[in-house]
Amino acid sequence: NEEFKLYEKKTGNSRKMYEKACEVIPGGVSANIKYFEPHPIVMKKAGKSKLYDVDGNEYVDYLLCYGAMILGHGHTSVVEAVNKQLQVNGTAIFGTPHINETTMAKKIIELFSGIEMVRFTNSGTEATLFAIRMAMAYNGKSKIAKFEGHYHGGYDQVLLSVHPDIQKAGDAKEPKTIKESRGISDYYVNNTVILPFNDIESTKKILKKHADDISAVIMEPVQSGFIPADLEFMQELRKVTEELDILLIYDEVKTGFRLTLGGAQDIYGIKPDLTSLGKVLGGGFPVGAVGGKKEILEIVSPTGYGDILTPSASNDDKSLGLFHSGTYNGHPTVLAAGLATINELEKDNVMNSLIENTNYLREKLEGLYKSYNIPMQTVGMGSIFNIVLTDKKIKNYRDMNSADSKLRKEIDYALLELGVYSKPLNRYSMSTAHTIDDINFTINAHEKAIKRVMG
Ligand code: PLP
Repeated sequence: NEEFKLYEKKTGNSRKMYEKACEVIPGGVSANIKYFEPHPIVMKKAGKSKLYDVDGNEYVDYLLCYGAMILGHGHTSVVEAVNKQLQVNGTAIFGTPHINETTMAKKIIELFSGIEMVRFTNSGTEATLFAIRMAMAYNGKSKIAKFEGHYHGGYDQVLLSVHPDIQKAGDAKEPKTIKESRGISDYYVNNTVILPFNDIESTKKILKKHADDISAVIMEPVQSGFIPADLEFMQELRKVTEELDILLIYDEVKTGFRLTLGGAQDIYGIKPDLTSLGKVLGGGFPVGAVGGKKEILEIVSPTGYGDILTPSASNDDKSLGLFHSGTYNGHPTVLAAGLATINELEKDNVMNSLIENTNYLREKLEGLYKSYNIPMQTVGMGSIFNIVLTDKKIKNYRDMNSADSKLRKEIDYALLELGVYSKPLNRYSMSTAHTIDDINFTINAHEKAIKRVMG
């Protein structure tokens, strides 16, 4: 269509570079999610709230590397902290304990009510993977339960609930376990139970049925970073998991440091048993962390694990420890960037004003779409939201099917052409670098896009 043509016209160099990439990289991308039709934009430079592509175009960035860049790009404090680390230690990562690990662990414990001890990883994926192993080692059960459509990384145990054909996903109240990728063994299909998000009665029923086998429930408290769980749902889920001896893992890779500094557990006032973190924690570098109750984290200890393993871990060989390793775990430069980021976020009024700006943008966009009689709502919490073109209440991933994704996509391509960047259909993440001018520019761009698309 017309928007595609305009997009192509503006991104000719991107296309050429993308085609070259395709010769040596399958699909021309290093992560499937980085692709969109007809070709992704190849970026060259970034600064504050902006991205600059290889065709010389400028964009206000709402992707922010899928939410990681909460201070925007190249924040002075983060750059200084990284430079200092490099000047003092070169690129050394020691391969030994160092002070940044303890400083960051203490900071996380101070901010997250459900965290008493921490281990670091290199990504959110590794964090959730390790949280699940820890849960299984702790209570000796061998299945996990996850919610339909919740993302915890791209590995076999959790990539099991979304299919392009919704019919294949089964009944909304008892979704089926379905592979989201080729190459996943049936073992994982048989050992992962899928739950319906924001439906406590069905969730309870399923959990009760499999309680003897389910080690942990893992969840995104705000699904995909923008669909919040109902408070009552969260309260009941905490209660029933405790009753059934099932651990509760909050995957706060997106929500950590973004709703409030202490994440969803702070907002909901509920302590999970384990928490996974990532994204913002690395200040723009690859990172992850698992935190939680001391009695669970301590089983990772390389000393004395035989005593620490709980008696209920009956399926496990108690002479074995709980293995956790990684060459780059607790990277000093990464943690220096993360500490500088958190330090900025803790300054007076920084989080408040980030959230106020997000709410201002949401309100203005809602008003704008209403004035053009387009059914629209913004769905989100804290500094992340999505634009959903329907009046129907959005409580889970299936509800998104009622939204007009065709119109949204057309508007998104027009926005790309007009200088507002988010991957088509993706959520919007905000940064502290977004100015009122950026926000007003975005609102005007939406109006132009709507006019163009609606004729
Ligand atoms: N968990 C959640 C909730 C996420 O949003 C993501 C990434 O988007 C992950 C886990 C995986 O993190 P990473 O991409 O750092 O491996």
